Amino acid sequence: MLTAIVGINWGDEGKGRMVDLLTSEYDVVVRYQGGGNAGHTVVNELGKFALHLLPSGIFRKGVVNILGNGVALDCESLWTEMQDVTGKGVAITPENLKISDRASLLLPWHRDLDGLEEARLADKKYGSTKQGIAPFYSDKYQKKTVMAGELLYPDKLWEHLEGILEWKNLTLEKVYGAKPYTMEDLRAWVADYGEKIKPFICDTGAFLREAQAAGKSILFEAQLGSLRDLDYGIYPYTTSSNAIAAYAPVGSGLPCARIEKVVGVVKAYSSCVGEGPFTCEWFGEEAEKLREAGGEYGAKTGRPRRVGPIDIVATRYGVQCQGATDIALTKMDILSYMDKIPVCAHYELNGQQIDYFPFPAVLPDAKPVMEYMEGWQCDISGVRRWEDLPEAARKYVEYVERQIGCHITYVSVGPERDSIIIR
Ligand code: GDP
Repeated sequence: MLTAIVGINWGDEGKGRMVDLLTSEYDVVVRYQGGGNAGHTVVNELGKFALHLLPSGIFRKGVVNILGNGVALDCESLWTEMQDVTGKGVAITPENLKISDRASLLLPWHRDLDGLEEARLADKKYGSTKQGIAPFYSDKYQKKTVMAGELLYPDKLWEHLEGILEWKNLTLEKVYGAKPYTMEDLRAWVADYGEKIKPFICDTGAFLREAQAAGKSILFEAQLGSLRDLDYGIYPYTTSSNAIAAYAPVGSGLPCARIEKVVGVVKAYSSCVGEGPFTCEWFGEEAEKLREAGGEYGAKTGRPRRVGPIDIVATRYGVQCQGATDIALTKMDILSYMDKIPVCAHYELNGQQIDYFPFPAVLPDAKPVMEYMEGWQCDISGVRRWEDLPEAARKYVEYVERQIGCHITYVSVGPERDSIIIR
């Protein structure tokens, strides 16, 4: 079975929690895009973990975790994360973590350039997490970075890096007036971080092909969500990689694979980190209450997230982009304090009510058209069976399901592994 778990909206939908729940059914978990820029939160018997690069299957014995060729391999961030996880008693070995030799390296200047460009943009900034992701991907596509596998061939690595360094210093010095890097800096960086991840580097494509041939089940884990996808999201307020399920085969090392099940994760309300149009955004007291109730602060940056009611128009579009076969609706328990549950059912654009998701350039002109559903106003975090949910909560789930055109298979009512209703 090949399954992808993806975000339907702006990210932070609770994918980490769903992957953690489902990993017990899979032999292999693969990260196929993105890097240290977003965080999955996993709560399990060992504690609370903010994972940025490590696949969420790292906590399960016997699961092989893969960082595919599509990820932005930030050795520094990965190593820090590995230390955190091993420090809490989880063993990480080349048996349970494999890094693609074809994953490109996020180099030290990528982070610098991210910060320098955001500073240059000033009030027009994209709201980057400054982890170097946009400079990394632009260099990857310009063929100006190195692949992880080159760490295994030092002679070739140094020759390759020398050429890149010369070119990169031109940008650092002449465009941004920043300090150039030297080969010594790079040698120190490789000694500090590259050497540490070297034992985990291998041909993960070969591993995955063998795993697939042997009938193993594989779970592809995405970062962020449809609306942050480089091609289909709210460009330019997107990430610089493809967060959609269609990219999973390419970014993981199984380019011809057909994903059979796509679990799209949707939050029972909306949240969004960073800049860009966010049609159903709440402000003031209403926003503060929801943000507090949902603990909506960035896993990576700690920034307060922008929040609002569920956005049916954006969610329906997100479902279509992902080709979702199943939906996991998370954080239903957070809505329990509301007497009426607001939903953004349509948009109004240029005086007309619309149900399609507008082109990014005109999205800021769209206004939310609200509808209200009955609240349930009781604690549902202990509920485990569909029939035990209050009728108003079931109606809310059924309404969302009808509107977005995809079956809601999982309803999450808490962050813990077992706080789930499976329909
Ligand atoms: P991800 O990037 O999509 O994994 O999203 P986050 O890491 O931001 O996860 C969302 C947050 O919500 C985490 O702190 C989770 O532990 C938490 N969470 C996930 N599902 C639920 C739920 O159903 N109820 C509650 N109360 N918290 C949840």
